[in-house]
Amino acid sequence: MSHYESPWMNDELRMYRKTVREFIHAEFLPRQEKWREQHRPDAESWKQAGRTGLLLPDVPEEYGGGGGSFAHQAVVTEELAQAGVHFGCGVQSIVSHYILQYGNEEHKKKWLPALAQGELVGAIAMTEPSAGSDLQAIKTTARRDGGDFILSGSKTFITNGSHAGLVCIAAKTDPKAAASRGISMIVVETKNLAGYRVGSSFEKVGMHEVDTCELFFDDVRVPSANLLGTTEGAGLSQMMEQLRYERVMIGVGAVATMERAVAITTKYAKERKAFGQTLIEFQNTRFKLAQCKTEAHVGRVFIDSCIEKVIAGQIDAVTAAMAKYWLTECQCRIVDECVQLHGGYGYMTEYPIARMWADSRVQRIYAGTNEIMLEMIGWSL
Ligand SMILES: Cc1cc2nc3c(=O)[nH]c(=O)nc-3n(C[C@H](O)[C@H](O)[C@H](O)COP(=O)(O)OP(=O)(O)OC[C@H]3O[C@@H](n4cnc5c(N)ncnc54)[C@H](O)[C@@H]3O)c2cc1C
Repeated sequence: MSHYESPWMNDELRMYRKTVREFIHAEFLPRQEKWREQHRPDAESWKQAGRTGLLLPDVPEEYGGGGGSFAHQAVVTEELAQAGVHFGCGVQSIVSHYILQYGNEEHKKKWLPALAQGELVGAIAMTEPSAGSDLQAIKTTARRDGGDFILSGSKTFITNGSHAGLVCIAAKTDPKAAASRGISMIVVETKNLAGYRVGSSFEKVGMHEVDTCELFFDDVRVPSANLLGTTEGAGLSQMMEQLRYERVMIGVGAVATMERAVAITTKYAKERKAFGQTLIEFQNTRFKLAQCKTEAHVGRVFIDSCIEKVIAGQIDAVTAAMAKYWLTECQCRIVDECVQLHGGYGYMTEYPIARMWADSRVQRIYAGTNEIMLEMIGWSL
């Protein structure tokens, strides 16, 4: 098979990939076990990532970002997936894009450089204990009081929650209005904030090195100037717009994970012996790996077209939903097949494929479940 290279790749991105890869191997991989035990990365690692240029790579330089495009973000996402390390810098970028798109100049100058340096960690808080897929049913309220909003409610499953200094929260500013007009996105600076509380990190099935927490807002005062957008009530449409970026990013990680699964399983199948021959000599092993390799390649070509669309500012919601749905389904199918080809070793967490299996499952759930993706694609029929 002739070597395939993504059409968006160029020399500058190759150099950036090298920097990112070397950094992950030198600084993240040796700390991964510690992060997994404490259920979060070290605060210092955020600053290191910022100094090395892993954070906000596609935010303009004037706001402290890398000045690159979504291709740079894709490189970071791919390299983390290839190394099997989970680090919430994708969420950091998602938060920065809310500020970039809907924030005013003051917001951008105040928060983006700190996010780019890793001095501030960002979280995006939409999901609530009683409202996940049905975002319109959120109960957290933000009522005006003088020059402030008063936030009341709770959020759950929030990535980066335990050390987030900046939480971009979805709240009802007009509980009586239809959700399409009643929800707003508000930026909350959490340091020394009265009434704000973070629950302990959840015990998850996988992705142990990332913190996922519950956040509580008990009459929390936030300046009304922290509203994103020029008017209240734009939150739902802002989320729908920004979720496209997030969903493609999930697809990028899915494809890189599939490629890694096929590569490590092929290597394993060439080494491991049974019945006096290597596993790859069984036709079943070759056929299964051939199917996985084909699907991974189809996924690669599709995600590359999505990446190019995001770079050009032309990704639509349905294509992003297709990427999130189909690529994460493929990821779970392929990784599961690769576990099977590893035999009992595939179930041992010291083997990367076992971790990939546990880490992959959530990809079909967060950022909108795959059933919700199918609904969205269905509406376009
Ligand atoms: C590790 C992790 C990290 C996360 N990070 C974040 C984060 O940073 N920020 C954040 O806001 N949220 C985050 N989430 C939350 C995630 O986005 C939600 O879990 C997800 O949207 C599903 O919501 P839910 O859990 O309430 O499930 P529910 O909405 O209760 O869904 C349960 C089931 O019903 C199905 N279902 C629901 N509605 C329909 C329908 N209309 N048609 C067909 N089927 C339907 C779903 O597909 C699912 O299978 C995270 C979740 C996890 C597990």
